[in-house]
Amino acid sequence: MWTKDGDLLVDALIEAYGAMWPWVCPRRLVTRLPALAESLHGLARQKLIGQGHTYRDRADTVYEHAAMYGAFHAARARRSWPNALPQTCPLCRAVFTAGQLNPWIIRQFGPSRWCKKCCVTARNGRSGAATPRAGGQALTALSVSMGAAPPQDFSQRPVPLDLPAEQRDAIVSAMAACPSAASLRGLLGAGSWIEVLHTTGIVPDAWRPARGTYCVAADGHPCRSLAERTIDDWLSCHGVEHQIEPAWPHHPQLNTHGHRRADWRLSDGTYVEYAGLTNEDYLAKIQAKQQLAQHTGIRLIVITPPDLANLTEVLGAWSSKIRIK
Ligand SMILES: [Zn+2]
Repeated sequence: MWTKDGDLLVDALIEAYGAMWPWVCPRRLVTRLPALAESLHGLARQKLIGQGHTYRDRADTVYEHAAMYGAFHAARARRSWPNALPQTCPLCRAVFTAGQLNPWIIRQFGPSRWCKKCCVTARNGRSGAATPRAGGQALTALSVSMGAAPPQDFSQRPVPLDLPAEQRDAIVSAMAACPSAASLRGLLGAGSWIEVLHTTGIVPDAWRPARGTYCVAADGHPCRSLAERTIDDWLSCHGVEHQIEPAWPHHPQLNTHGHRRADWRLSDGTYVEYAGLTNEDYLAKIQAKQQLAQHTGIRLIVITPPDLANLTEVLGAWSSKIRIK
């Protein structure tokens, strides 16, 4: 069931990630080649012929493995990629190779750049005692390097790929120097993350979550999450016209009452949805949206958290300010 489009996607991943490309393949397939992801997922849901065991109840896990190792074998039969060579970590000057990094590091931090120790420190945050003042300053430094208010789960967020290398270094360095979100809430005596952002002055006090509005994008659009704000700000900043919350056309089964809405509509009629992958059935949720799009003939772009690392790759085609190769 592997396709020529799958080969092209893998070639692009090899270009960006070198030897570590398989770790990012499963999630990339879901958003870029949904039909191929769906056929792999469909296979994962079946009892495989000649297998004594089956993982029908863990279709997402089987899908992940098939999309990594299946794609790997298909690519290996067809081509090769450069070996992982020694490189120097720009933060601590340690010499390492990409092969020493774990899959989660590649998925969160992108192509090999920082050593494992620096990535682990950035993920865990600064440990040990800190004063409320020092904690607040560390978070402020992080928000300055990001150019945005850090979301509560900042330590697990992908580091954006489409930023200058120096800015990416500054973000990872600031993550490593910042206490965890839980420590910060404790240090500052804050009951919620938005309170942390208010106390430190990172976002103005006037912003209150109301009617599901968590924060406001640069162009004034209300957003339900900082992820949505990131996308909305990317659209504004790249000159992409967008309306929020367009209605989906009525459909007898998939949109019975006509109440369903997408997150954005672009000027050519394309719908954009943000899907947080916070629960186990993320694939089913994305597929439901893709089905509705298919039945209504609307082009749909689904953005998932790993895509936030490189929105240019997903949405760049709509920007008059970017030329995609
Ligand atoms: Zn390092």
